[in-house]
Amino acid sequence: MNAYAGEVLNHIMHTLPAGVTFFERGWLSSNNVLLQDASQAVLVDSGYWTHADQMHALVSFALKHQPLTTLINTHLHSDHCGGNAHLQAMYPALKTLIPPGHAEFVDTWDAQILTYEPTGQHCPPFTRTGSLHDGDFVTVNEKIWRIHAAPGHDPNSVVIFNEVDGVLISADALWENGFGVVFPEIEGLSAFDEVESTLNTIEELDPKLVLPGHGCAFTDVSSSIDRARSRLEQFRRSPEKHANYAAKVLLKFKLLEFQKIKINEFLLWGDSAKYLKLLSDKYATGQSFEAWFYDLCKSLEKSNACAIDDEYIININ
Ligand SMILES: [Zn+2]
Repeated sequence: MNAYAGEVLNHIMHTLPAGVTFFERGWLSSNNVLLQDASQAVLVDSGYWTHADQMHALVSFALKHQPLTTLINTHLHSDHCGGNAHLQAMYPALKTLIPPGHAEFVDTWDAQILTYEPTGQHCPPFTRTGSLHDGDFVTVNEKIWRIHAAPGHDPNSVVIFNEVDGVLISADALWENGFGVVFPEIEGLSAFDEVESTLNTIEELDPKLVLPGHGCAFTDVSSSIDRARSRLEQFRRSPEKHANYAAKVLLKFKLLEFQKIKINEFLLWGDSAKYLKLLSDKYATGQSFEAWFYDLCKSLEKSNACAIDDEYIININ
């Protein structure tokens, strides 16, 4: 941990309730939230596996000499639990609590159902100690952090709310500008209604501060909910817009991991990712998978998310 990172961390800590640390990460790794008191340290989400060392350095800086006692995952996407295995190796007594829906597939490690295969992503296998159901809570610093089911982005996702301070850990259900890809829709399962009901749940909780799964913390929650609702309406009216958004998110995510890769190899990766095949089968009318994939790359280049030369595609930002 360098001095600058420590300074940034201290600045963020000043704006949060005592014992709460928010680690704002990039888009490849989800943000992490650390809840501490004298007897325990609870981390919410662990980022992507390629950033596990960085995540552990950030967390141990904030922990000082305290051990991490509990790890909670808001959902089991690879960018939220990719560092679980690393933390379990570092802290052998760590309790790992996950939403119940996918629990049995963690026990048998089904990379298909856990979405790592169809997204073309990776997550090192980890184990779980127990599950967190809607209404369950953890108490840290004598404050209750309650679990609320938040389906939509993922059917089993949860958000975590501290009623005393009005702080919501929203995962990918609500960001300052939007929300995460609605993954069940890629598989042809309707889930836009679930996104709406989760936004309603968040509105009823009436948080003063939201710590999202990606991007910065925010306080103007009603404006964010308005923006999320209008985006949802756009997707409902034009599912192809959601499909295009989903496909570009999957490509950009992998580019963040690869940083630079031969276009042919990137295409080979795309060809192996079932979600991309499903999207192209449904929305790339009259186009081959290759042509559709290349168009997506060009569109990412147009929005300055990557550069393409004769041989390579290179991540930008
Ligand atoms: Zn997610």
